Amino acid sequence: MLVVQKYGGTSVGDLDRIRRVARRCLAARAEGHDVVAVVSAMAGETNRLLALTHAIHADPDAREQDVVVATGEQVSVGLLALAIQAAGGSAVSFLGHQVKIVTDSAFARARIQSIEGERIRAALGQGAIAVVAGFQGTDEHGNLTTLGRGGSDTTAVAVAAALGAGACEIYTDVDGVYTADPNVCPAARKLDRIAYEEMLELASVGAKVLQIRSVEFAMKYRVPVRVRSSFSDDPGTLVCAEEDSMESVVVSGIALDRNEAKIALRSVPDVPGVAGRIFTPLAEANVVVDMIVQNVSRGRRQDLTFTVARADLARAAAVVGAAAGALGVRGVDTDGKVAKVSVVGVGMRNHSGVAARMFQVLAAEGINILLISTSEIKISCVIHEKYAELAVRALHTAFGLDRAEPAARGGA
Ligand code: ADP
Ligand code: ASP
Ligand code: MG
Repeated sequence: MLVVQKYGGTSVGDLDRIRRVARRCLAARAEGHDVVAVVSAMAGETNRLLALTHAIHADPDAREQDVVVATGEQVSVGLLALAIQAAGGSAVSFLGHQVKIVTDSAFARARIQSIEGERIRAALGQGAIAVVAGFQGTDEHGNLTTLGRGGSDTTAVAVAAALGAGACEIYTDVDGVYTADPNVCPAARKLDRIAYEEMLELASVGAKVLQIRSVEFAMKYRVPVRVRSSFSDDPGTLVCAEEDSMESVVVSGIALDRNEAKIALRSVPDVPGVAGRIFTPLAEANVVVDMIVQNVSRGRRQDLTFTVARADLARAAAVVGAAAGALGVRGVDTDGKVAKVSVVGVGMRNHSGVAARMFQVLAAEGINILLISTSEIKISCVIHEKYAELAVRALHTAFGLDRAEPAARGGA
């Protein structure tokens, strides 16, 4: 069987850990599998490289920034290949362009378009372990690109899909997907299985255990993904197609996103075309808008509030400020101290009252809701950042997700 194993930053955080990963790869090889290891940069390295680009330029060009941040993975693939060789195995490292991971040209958030994989197959054919750099690719012009934070997950699933792998294992610092981030909610329970759709929603509202695009790929190409810890032998969590048994719970997880910021436009003229004149320049500035709420019109004027990624707040505020001035908006307020808390579950399709319950729980904790958005299987509320963890824990308890007794958790 062909197995793709992805090792996150913590799993390759130092040389001992890289040796441990080498042993895991070799163990899978010894079981007779063809092994492709997809590797992230060593823990903290991508942040360090990003900080360098910001230290040298206040608003770094995305193409050049990608040239810098893609180097983190170059170091870790070389080190892992060497560690495997030092342990007596055979391994070849590959960068994105060497295995022809072709992406679009959206620097810092590029999407994979194709993977050729010929050289990976050739290396496997010679009995070697192929060690592939996560997070990076090249566009059609040969420019280096990166896939966005957490992008090595997507490299792994895309490689697994392209090569028709029998298994895709994501090794990280927790031993599976939990009902909430176990680092925020001590009562969180590990799930044995989770449906692609639920994982997709959880990832999209902040559960960074898997990058959202990796789940999209897994769902599209039906790649079963197992999230596990590189520090234990726990089988972890299988992310797979929805099963009947999964619908018995209404809410299967709570997620938290602290990377949101809120922009409110006060007293916007209520005439056709205004929203377009505010959101078009934002789109042109590559700012992704998340939630949008428009208040009921009061005397031909209304308030318009929306959220953006916190890292984009200053840029978004400048763009909106210019547009707002031209439109005669009375004021623009920004708030970088918000968080989005979400409840997710496929069971919500058949149950009413989940939103009401969520609002009651937040109210009982004295937490004010600033914005609300819903989908078929998710409800999100934007609240003040300082209540973020309290909200997650209270909702986790209220929706019956707490583990029976808080036991010591496996993992790092
Ligand atoms: P890696 O470097 O291995 O890719 P990440 O830091 O990207 O690891 O993802 C793992 C982290 O995801 C965990 O340490 C945990 O804090 C966080 N996380 C958020 N939500 C969840 C969840 N529902 N289940 C498990 N982990 C979660
Ligand atoms: N090294 C990249 C990051 O820190 C990619 C990854 O770890 O998945 O975002
Ligand atoms: Mg990650």
